[in-house]
Amino acid sequence: MGARLILANKSDNSSIPTQGNLFLPEFDLPVVPADVWDKLARSEFRRQFHLTKVDRAYLQEKSLPIVLEHAADFIAKRLAPSHPVKDGRQTPWKGHPVFTAQHATGTCCRSCVEKWHHFVKGVPLTQQQQAYILAVIAGWLEREEQHPEQAEDEGQDIQRYFAQRKQKTRK
Ligand SMILES: [Zn+2]
Repeated sequence: MGARLILANKSDNSSIPTQGNLFLPEFDLPVVPADVWDKLARSEFRRQFHLTKVDRAYLQEKSLPIVLEHAADFIAKRLAPSHPVKDGRQTPWKGHPVFTAQHATGTCCRSCVEKWHHFVKGVPLTQQQQAYILAVIAGWLEREEQHPEQAEDEGQDIQRYFAQRKQKTRK
């Protein structure tokens, strides 16, 4: 997947993203509306997801642009088709920082994408919709990177979300 990304927030020309030099403007990521973050922050289920130490180490080693190329690939292959394979179960609970980001942001399957981001199921996602989902994942990863203390209890976090996964519906 060779897509190159730029994370510049168009609504704020004054802030050059720190990773900006690593991105070429092949396409710009759309701005994610603030109310999306507010709603996600109010979801008990979504807000319990945080990058683990392993996720963070991977992110540091690979760099955000590379990890976002992976994300673009996951989105294209596992979410964008009208009827993705194993829809609802296509995003593992761990193993890649983007998987964690997807569960945290309601971009893990087409039902969650429809509920949280209002892209209806059963039709392929457009390039624009895919770019939006990528922007959500990128925004979440950037926020997590700014809060390293949240990774401290990796074991607890994982235990907690698997326990809650059993108790709760994700929808
Ligand atoms: Zn889902």
